[in-house]
Amino acid sequence: MKEFFNNIILKLSDCQNCKLVLYNYKQIFGGSINTAFFINTNRGKFFLKLNNNKTKNLFDNEVRGLKLISSTNTINVPQVIYFDDEVLVLEFIESNQINKKFWSNFGYSLAELHYNTLNSFGLDHDNYIGTLLQTNKFYDNWNDFFIYQRLKPQLDIGNFPAKTHKLFDILFLELDNIFSLTKPSLLHGDLWNGNFISTNDQVFLVDPAVYYGNREMDIAMTKLFGGFEKEFYDSYNYHYPLVKNWQTRLDICNLYPLLVHANLFGGNYYNQIHSILKSVTK
Ligand code: ADP
Repeated sequence: MKEFFNNIILKLSDCQNCKLVLYNYKQIFGGSINTAFFINTNRGKFFLKLNNNKTKNLFDNEVRGLKLISSTNTINVPQVIYFDDEVLVLEFIESNQINKKFWSNFGYSLAELHYNTLNSFGLDHDNYIGTLLQTNKFYDNWNDFFIYQRLKPQLDIGNFPAKTHKLFDILFLELDNIFSLTKPSLLHGDLWNGNFISTNDQVFLVDPAVYYGNREMDIAMTKLFGGFEKEFYDSYNYHYPLVKNWQTRLDICNLYPLLVHANLFGGNYYNQIHSILKSVTK
């Protein structure tokens, strides 16, 4: 392992135009897919992630996502130091105890990010959600995008029972009565609790799966594994009010990450998907 890190240090020395010396490294836990490390050098601390599954262009896409978010000047992302097919090296963000303003600042910054819009839903390239391909073909209409670029591709690659497919077909017919017209907002795309780092009063987003979509998708994802603090939603709503009855659509939005999780990890996600479908297609 030491030799591996020394090779990386050589690559980093080239791109930083200085000779780096590795002091130490340690594994970081908390991600869901790849192995990650903290590395400490004479020139500072870095975050390093390995492309465990050798997914093609994984880090190229992650970097494009980070840079797109960064270009909006709305919410922090770590600086990209180096990447190739195997490794991604980012500025290391030290997480600290949050202060009183953290959650409201987070809500405000996310609202500001979401004010960045396009005329169509999608993105100019496909990317990944975890290690699964996320297609982003442009659509003028959210419901079509949601069906054909989000739900159906996951249903097609998964092993879901016929009854699940049937319930999805019923839901597809209902979507026009469920979602209101909305502008395509730039989304983080995978905004669960493991994909942000808190530093006092500021947030840094990591591991994005960006696209222009319905902003309720990001809000829903924050609630999938527990939810953020109330100040976050209050502040978001103050700066960019959500459409009436947004709460009633969160489960439907989360069918996408749940399908992704079922395809990546199996297990209980199938039951969760099924019970949401049962309740929304009654
Ligand atoms: P994975 O691709 O496996 O999901 P992540 O990119 O989510 O990995 O990173 C794993 C964990 O490492 C995150 O949950 C986060 O806590 C931490 N992390 C990610 N980026 C940084 C960074 N730049 N600095 C410090 N910690 C980070």
